[in-house]
Amino acid sequence: MNRKGLLLVVSAPSGCGKGTILAEVCKRMSCQVSVSATTRSPRPGEIDGQHYYFVTKAEFEERIQNNQMLEYVEYCGNYYGTPKDKVEALRAQGVHVILEIEVQGAMQILKRCPDAVSIFIVPPSIETLRHRLEKRGTEDSATIEKRIAAAATEMQSAVHYQYVVMNDALENAVDDFCAIVRAETCKQRPNE
Ligand code: 5GP
Repeated sequence: MNRKGLLLVVSAPSGCGKGTILAEVCKRMSCQVSVSATTRSPRPGEIDGQHYYFVTKAEFEERIQNNQMLEYVEYCGNYYGTPKDKVEALRAQGVHVILEIEVQGAMQILKRCPDAVSIFIVPPSIETLRHRLEKRGTEDSATIEKRIAAAATEMQSAVHYQYVVMNDALENAVDDFCAIVRAETCKQRPNE
């Protein structure tokens, strides 16, 4: 039986280590992280088409007009969104598609796609988060403060997600995430 892949909606305050967790999960399971489009500038080492599709504001707005986005938001002054194409194609092949998106976008998906599985990743504390962002060194201090403030608000949204994974130690967080995926693949799906 060829079952459709899951749609996994994953949110976490930035700097929480979600990229590392998801990369490990994708090594272990048939999962793929959807590549989002954004109008923010690439960080050092980020590759167009791999980390994001880096587009201009005009290009992004054209995609919205053409109904090519599954969801989109304005976050910290930039557009971010999930291109529709590929998500359904991958799921049809049985691949679990992970949307690594912020809370507002996740809420849009949960409304539109009732079969989506939602997971929120939390850092052990806001102080750990600040430390990680400072260590990453990719943002100036004003941007870090903006992101900490956004993170504190976002943490309150964890309650809207079906699962919460704490990233205290990478290995534990990856194990927990994989256990959720495995359990969800075993769940009865009467409509399929
Ligand atoms: P960053 O600039 O750190 O890469 O991402 C900032 C925030 O935007 C993160 O919380 C990230 O998960 C979120 N994000 C990335 N891509 C998308 C997307 O396609 N849609 C939405 N709604 N959020 C996204």
